[in-house]
Amino acid sequence: MKNLICKNCGGSMVLDPSARTARCHYCGATYLLDHQDTDYFLDFYRQMERFLSGGQDETARRINAEAIWNNADSTRFTSVDNQIIDVRHLHTYRSPYCDAYVARSNIIFHFHQNLRSDAEVYSRMVSSLDYPSADVRNLSDFFPRITGGFRLADGTHLLVISKTEDEYPLRLFGTLSARHVAWIISRLENLCCVLEFSGLVHPGISPDTVFIDPYTHQASLYGGWWEACKVNTLRPGGKMARSFDSLMGLRQTAAAMLGFPQLSDVRYRPDVPKPMIDFLTSIPKDTAYEDFALWDKTLIAAFGERKFIQMDTDDGQIYRKRV
Ligand SMILES: [Zn+2]
Repeated sequence: MKNLICKNCGGSMVLDPSARTARCHYCGATYLLDHQDTDYFLDFYRQMERFLSGGQDETARRINAEAIWNNADSTRFTSVDNQIIDVRHLHTYRSPYCDAYVARSNIIFHFHQNLRSDAEVYSRMVSSLDYPSADVRNLSDFFPRITGGFRLADGTHLLVISKTEDEYPLRLFGTLSARHVAWIISRLENLCCVLEFSGLVHPGISPDTVFIDPYTHQASLYGGWWEACKVNTLRPGGKMARSFDSLMGLRQTAAAMLGFPQLSDVRYRPDVPKPMIDFLTSIPKDTAYEDFALWDKTLIAAFGERKFIQMDTDDGQIYRKRV
């Protein structure tokens, strides 16, 4: 997908739901898109949302992937021992600490400087993850698996993690219906419980750090680990890290996927069940376990009881009550 980079500061631009304006979340600059760009992004989002509707066989998935990868960009790095590293990427996400390149079966993080040892923080936090002994759901699949690292000729670092070909950043789906956002919240609550169990806080949960597989409806938390820390330790700015920080990120992510740029923009809307709006504007519970229980109640109030479903049915069949 085309990347919109801020002309002012080089940060990545975030599109509004109508794809008419883009805003830089670092310096606040706003740009008006031309019609051609607006059409391009709306088409792209429609295509991504189609993947979520299910019913696609393996062949269709491969055709989808080829179509998407036809427009990939590439970036070249030179390692400290003069090896050329070519990265073909679908999407780039720029943060103050690093650029993330979403490649076909990897995500490559390029850390700008090693002053804060961000690559090292990333690795340390990921290796602090702990899973319940009866981890029947293979929860570790939804967290980064680091496969390599390179020191570059200019003194910066690359960190490489693996992903499956069908995992895309949530950002690439534009905005989604309440029903899709509901299953994403369920997965994120689950991931926040793993963070809670591990005594970790991840304040950077966002549409850029969460990756989803539209076919299996799984969500993974791959980005932003350079901001993660142990619970009850000091965060930059002098605040104590609490589960609250992870759970606020979850709410912000869900709000953004519904088309509300910030949590403070969340309003009642006819296409979003009221209990869901109430959940998004609620103060997170003290622990992720309690917050998940609150979300479960919200889910039933918003969409009705869950039915038993086959693994390959789509979300439209999961909930009795249609929005
Ligand atoms: Zn900017």
